Amino acid sequence: MTEALLEIRGLTKHYGAVKALQGIDLSVHAGTVYGFIGPNGAGKTTAIRILAGLIRPNAGTVTLGGLDLATKRTEAAAGLRALVEVPAFYPGLSGRQNLTVFAKLARAARGEVERLLTAVGLNHAADRAVGGYSLGMRQRLGIAQALVGKPSLVVLDEPMNGLDPAAIHLVRELIQTERRERGVTFFLSSHLLHDVETLCDEVGIIHRGEIVAEGRITDLLSGSVSGYSLQTADNVAALGALQDALPAANARNAEGGEIHVDGDEATLPAVTRTLLQAGLPANTIRPLRDTLERYFIEKTEGVMG
Ligand code: ATP
Repeated sequence: MTEALLEIRGLTKHYGAVKALQGIDLSVHAGTVYGFIGPNGAGKTTAIRILAGLIRPNAGTVTLGGLDLATKRTEAAAGLRALVEVPAFYPGLSGRQNLTVFAKLARAARGEVERLLTAVGLNHAADRAVGGYSLGMRQRLGIAQALVGKPSLVVLDEPMNGLDPAAIHLVRELIQTERRERGVTFFLSSHLLHDVETLCDEVGIIHRGEIVAEGRITDLLSGSVSGYSLQTADNVAALGALQDALPAANARNAEGGEIHVDGDEATLPAVTRTLLQAGLPANTIRPLRDTLERYFIEKTEGVMG
């Protein structure tokens, strides 16, 4: 794996008696989309506010491209963009004007403003004053602003918050395109675990100020077979045979004309043996894995931070 673009080591933040971050370590690799997830109050926004330079940690280091964010902030943060809470704009200027001001400061290529306005679906409202924008419109503009000028790392705190389904779709596509075509790395927090599962390569799960799991989603979920999906020449007879022989496997009809059974890898030999004894060998059989949501709940015990 490539060297980490963002390295967080021993990051600690206390608010009085509240230990919001208890020495967390994280590594975000260049060109990935990293999902930072955790229950309410787990410490996500605290970590993101430190990255954005809004608050200082009590201890620990953050390096970006090998440069320390505390001691070499200007240099280290040159390619860093963070969208935290409600983005600030000039209320009297239009969306297009706001983005143009920002594009000039960021020395963005010509055409960036129009490209991003289209990507977040704001063209129709681009000439209206931002003061009259709805929350979701501001959020769309904030995401566009974070991407102006080819940043290296974009940090987004709950980017889908307040967005309608069409905008969620656009933002998902935009993140994928920016990563694929311009090599932008993303670090985002979200409670939408289905989105995280489809969008992110790596995740870090934070719980009560500590990282409880980190890695590629495929690796984290690889050991977690929760059942099998199979098809035979006669599913009705196969279902009956499985229910009789293996009542604990809870064999049932599932979508797509498949049969699902519960159980881990140890269940597989009994399932195949039962089908063979019934004269109905499986035409297809594939493992069913935990979803990120199930894994997340297991790791965080389903309780608040
Ligand atoms: P959510 O998913 O609800 O947004 P989060 O993971 O972003 O939660 P944080 O906002 O980082 O969580 O909060 C972590 C802990 O720090 C919580 O216990 C919170 O109450 C506390 N905290 C955050 N900001 C402050 C503050 N300014 N003063 C005191 N305590 C704070």
